[in-house]
Amino acid sequence: MAAIPEPSLILSFEEARHLVEHHAAALHPRGKELVDLLEGTSAGQVLAEPVLADRHFPPFPRAMRDGYAVRAADLSQLPATLDVIAEIKAGASNKDIPVLQPGQAATIMTGATAPPGADAVVMVEHTTHQGKRVQITKGVAAGDNIAPVGSEAKRGERLLSPGLRLDYPAIAVAAATGRSRLLVYRKPQIGVLATGDEIVDIDVPPGTNQIRNSNSYSLAAQVQAAGGEPILLPIAPDEPSRLRELIADGLEADLLLLAGGVSMGKYDLVEPILAEFQAEFFFTGVLIQPGKPVVFGRIPCSAGAPAREQPASASDHVYFFGLPGNPVSTMVTFELFARPALEALTGMTPRKLVFLNGRLKSEIKTKTGLKRFLPAILAGEFEHAEVELAGWHGSGDVAAMARANCYIVIPPDRERVAAGEWVPVLMR
Ligand code: AMP
Ligand code: MG
Repeated sequence: MAAIPEPSLILSFEEARHLVEHHAAALHPRGKELVDLLEGTSAGQVLAEPVLADRHFPPFPRAMRDGYAVRAADLSQLPATLDVIAEIKAGASNKDIPVLQPGQAATIMTGATAPPGADAVVMVEHTTHQGKRVQITKGVAAGDNIAPVGSEAKRGERLLSPGLRLDYPAIAVAAATGRSRLLVYRKPQIGVLATGDEIVDIDVPPGTNQIRNSNSYSLAAQVQAAGGEPILLPIAPDEPSRLRELIADGLEADLLLLAGGVSMGKYDLVEPILAEFQAEFFFTGVLIQPGKPVVFGRIPCSAGAPAREQPASASDHVYFFGLPGNPVSTMVTFELFARPALEALTGMTPRKLVFLNGRLKSEIKTKTGLKRFLPAILAGEFEHAEVELAGWHGSGDVAAMARANCYIVIPPDRERVAAGEWVPVLMR
């Protein structure tokens, strides 16, 4: 059996994350497709073309309030009384929009076209309608409450750029520009391979000493949420020949996620088998908890990964992550390390990890040496949020993880964090 790197490559969290981000920057999606607006959004796909303004935004001078269109200069003396010469509704045609002369006003609704000659809209709250006249008690400056033609965007201007993951504001822009179909990147296919002799699939009644496969499913859900298409492989036993076969199958994907079999046990065979495929390992452990044994590397196409029509990466490799099998570790290490690589394969610029700060509800005691990402619950009322541990019983506790909505991050040098302290929080 081929050797795994010696001495093992154990990095700090920050070093490991930077390394993944560095490699992710060279990964690209494989092709494009045209999709219907909502189809692309529900699939979390990434825009592969720019979206341009097809007209000026707004296309006409738009009233932003209900009230009276006026000439601001007519309101130099207050109260002022003006002749009301028209009522302009949103969508009114030009023949119903007269030119405003000095001393005149027009009733106007939000979203309607301000008439030529008017340079402001007075809010209805500051007016009293008296027959065919209106008395105005508050002045306005020229430009108030009217959005000028093209003030939001000029015709031809780029409103959305390739690499943007479609979300509801992006859909609003596409809809506003009349784009019912959009060019997006094809979703990357992400191989998911759970390992372990004790693991059985969910439709098989587990024996006393067996565990149902939850990792393939949580990973599949994470892959989908990140914009990839999961390809679930059969469960690999802790036995070299079948594991080898399934890894070879998994290397047909754009990225391979393995779960389990990366610890120090006698039957943790994932790394030695990957090494047989001439894997280049970038790290074989990270100083974090949960998830310390996490592995990251790549395999050259010549060594078992099939050659690509359009290479997923310039270097023509298939990247893999060996995620520890404890279900919480699997989930956390996916989010911390696999996600940026997957995001790059979807065509988007990988998101940076952003930590918020939350006030800790009750004291946490821990040990130094590892950066901890502890499942936690951020809750509270309006601005008064507090965070506390989800009360987990270790890396296998999926129920605690399901209750959690974030992770409290504890730096490796802290043994105790007091109640009331601000702690970094990573949202889930
Ligand atoms: P390993 O990383 O293979 O040493 O596994 C660590 C722990 O996670 C063991 O208790 C396994 O039984 C459990 N485990 C491994 N793979 C899975 C899986 N696919 N679903 C649920 N639990 C798993
Ligand atoms: Mg195992």
